[in-house]
Amino acid sequence: MLTVLIVGCGLVGLAIGSFLNVVIYRVPRHESIVRPRSACPSCHAPILERDNIPVVSWLLLHGKCRSCQHPISMRYPIIELTCAMLFAGAAARFGYNWELPAMLVFLAGLLALASIDLELMVLPKGIIFTVLAGVAVFLVVAAAVYNEWHRLLIAVLCALGWFLVFFLLWAVSPRILGYGDVRLSTVLGLALGWLGIRYVILGFFSANLIGAIIGIFLIATKKMRRDQPIPYGVFLALGAALAVYAGSELLAPFQRYG
Ligand SMILES: [Zn+2]
Repeated sequence: MLTVLIVGCGLVGLAIGSFLNVVIYRVPRHESIVRPRSACPSCHAPILERDNIPVVSWLLLHGKCRSCQHPISMRYPIIELTCAMLFAGAAARFGYNWELPAMLVFLAGLLALASIDLELMVLPKGIIFTVLAGVAVFLVVAAAVYNEWHRLLIAVLCALGWFLVFFLLWAVSPRILGYGDVRLSTVLGLALGWLGIRYVILGFFSANLIGAIIGIFLIATKKMRRDQPIPYGVFLALGAALAVYAGSELLAPFQRYG
């Protein structure tokens, strides 16, 4: 029966990925995500219903607009496929559990925020607050269904704790991280804190480790200057995703330490 959930979540992930593409393009440009309907950025021809099927349409159209042949960015199918894999992976990891919807909102939010941060070096607060509210609502439902209010309390404390650490870092040296990263830290603390404090620590350290490794590589290969700002939100998202999917395996040796 788990297979049904995994396939179902994968298909929902494709559709949500398609919606995230709209969010990723429009929200940082302060455009509405509901209207007007999607159109080709080059010839402004509206995207037909049959050309709006995630991944499939892009492949059938060979990555080009039907009316003007203008290339459609690879980013669209990549986001849709990534979202499908994140959702299917979360279904496999959490199964039929009320914490699954909270994690799906969390992961979809991370995907949108990381893509925007990578392209534009901003983390729109509208998206952060929406994801925070969505994760919070579903975690309250999970806490109520399983009577696990102590986990919710730990999650809230982790959110406050991570926020405080980043807020102080930001206050001391705003060059290291932007205020968007400070806001994002509350979402990371809440979602990972629900899984356990060890997941918060794992997410935090792997984010910085991944950031350091990629940073050193880019500076060594002269693709980035030492004083260039980095999209820290991308690494926070990668670290958090690692904690969600591989946390129980990575943390297994530390199990006995609580
Ligand atoms: Zn076109």
